[in-house]
Amino acid sequence: MTDIRLEAISKHYGAVRAADSVDLAVAQGEFVTILGPSGSGKTTLLSLIAGLSQPSAGRILIGGRDVTASPPQQRNVGLVFQSYALFPHMSVFDNVAFPLRVRNTTADVVGDRVMAALELVQLHGMAQRRPAQLSGGQQQRVALARAFVFEPDILLLDEPLGALDRKLREELQVELKQLQRRLGVTTILVTHDQEEALSLSDRVMVLDGGQVQQIAAPQEAYLRPANRFVADFLGIANFIALPDGREAVVRPERIRLEASGGRDAIVAEAVYLGQIIRYHLTAGEDKFVAAAPFVGRPHAIGDHVSLTWDAADVWPVA
Ligand code: ADP
Ligand code: MG
Repeated sequence: MTDIRLEAISKHYGAVRAADSVDLAVAQGEFVTILGPSGSGKTTLLSLIAGLSQPSAGRILIGGRDVTASPPQQRNVGLVFQSYALFPHMSVFDNVAFPLRVRNTTADVVGDRVMAALELVQLHGMAQRRPAQLSGGQQQRVALARAFVFEPDILLLDEPLGALDRKLREELQVELKQLQRRLGVTTILVTHDQEEALSLSDRVMVLDGGQVQQIAAPQEAYLRPANRFVADFLGIANFIALPDGREAVVRPERIRLEASGGRDAIVAEAVYLGQIIRYHLTAGEDKFVAAAPFVGRPHAIGDHVSLTWDAADVWPVA
């Protein structure tokens, strides 16, 4: 268990600034998610931390030690990439044993550790299967077991659940969170899925164009976004013009549809999302999105309503 520091890390590919003076401090045992659109530099940062590539400028410290110039094997990092395939010709057991065997671990210890790791990801009954005999979710759990079996100081996960369907992804998110808590391993997860980032992490780092937009607890980034980009990327945002010329964000679930007393609006669309309904509303030139629990009789398209919100739910953005 250890901490990670990035100090003014930059990585340039010709004219492309894949990472642009990134500062990040991840505490021991913390779970940080790097969130950003495709091409924002997420994988670049993970590769730099893992030692798979070298920064153009800046320093990387792991456990207080400057590892900027150290090769990957000196960083004791467990990695799971979306495309980091299992060895197809090896059993589940041998796949998970691999990082131990390359470290010359004795056979007894290998046996114990592999079975303990498989137990943690609930695959102990499948040690002798080949990857092709497992579902996608089971394969990702094997990849996870292989990443932490050698007791790495840090775990780096690059879109590990990206290829799975929604239900399975949500199940594995819960398992991943529980596993990380149990192991207490410092973890950085990369994703472009804002729900995944908000639900899993202690803090999120939002990235765009290789630059840090905000580092904050999920709730903080969602309700108090640092700028318009973060507000938009972390879910649906209603932007309201303030008298001083700035804009303010109000999240859909903070907007109430009432009979009077607020901003006049007309229901343009009602989208059923299971437990909640999302209303798309027009108020003169402006458009709003509101989300309400699906209880009682919902509003119909064409209904005239009045939109209200609390002053405390309005957050000005740059
Ligand atoms: P993400 O993981 O957020 O999708 P990446 O870190 O893969 O983004 O890429 C960030 C930027 O750096 C992109 O513009 C990408 O094209 C560029 N890039 C990444 N790796 C290389 C490379 N090896 N050579 C040239 N450009 C690269
Ligand atoms: Mg990537």
